[in-house]
Amino acid sequence: MSLPKLVFATNNAHKLSEIRAILAGQYQVLSLHEIDCFGDIPETADTLEGNALLKAQFVFTNYGYDCFADDTGLEVEALGGRPGVHTARYANPDHNDSEANTALLLKELEGHTDRNARFRTAIAYIHNGRELLFEGIVNGSIATEKRGDKGFGYDPVFIPEGYSQTFAELGTDVKNTISHRARAVLALCEYLKLHHA
Ligand code: IMP
Repeated sequence: MSLPKLVFATNNAHKLSEIRAILAGQYQVLSLHEIDCFGDIPETADTLEGNALLKAQFVFTNYGYDCFADDTGLEVEALGGRPGVHTARYANPDHNDSEANTALLLKELEGHTDRNARFRTAIAYIHNGRELLFEGIVNGSIATEKRGDKGFGYDPVFIPEGYSQTFAELGTDVKNTISHRARAVLALCEYLKLHHA
């Protein structure tokens, strides 16, 4: 018997292999390219949830598949929750530049003693047209300088609560057990296992 198909609105190989491992034997998880979706999906909402919903709705409306999509933001307390929904293009509105993003963050936090921050991932899931939202959060703080060479994005400056090293020093094995994305994916997978498998 063939497995039900579920689209993950991404082409990020790392995210796909993570979710395929978790849902192995229950769903055939398809990427955007695998359903012949090659255009840019607009991410014009002003919340993480809004953007995740836009991406999932786009796939459901145009391709007819059940679908889920994620969106992540770094929310820094001393910056009133910024960069938040603008995390990818914080330093440059035209493209995602990790070097510039981390440099700007360290500069904005210069002299601040409150360095509390959190990563938050929103996942939107559409099943037969019905929309559901899931969330994953990891609390932590922003280091005073970049440390470590693993991971991506803001990993060299983010220290998860309970640790003294940054995500970039801790590496993916530790990160994948506690990260915002892992927690949001787990919440979705628990729902899928209970309700559809
Ligand atoms: P996305 O919604 O997953 O594409 O995440 C938006 C942006 O947040 C990325 O381009 C990264 O700059 C940043 N980001 C998301 N997840 C992580 C992470 O696990 N570590 C470091 N940066 C991240």
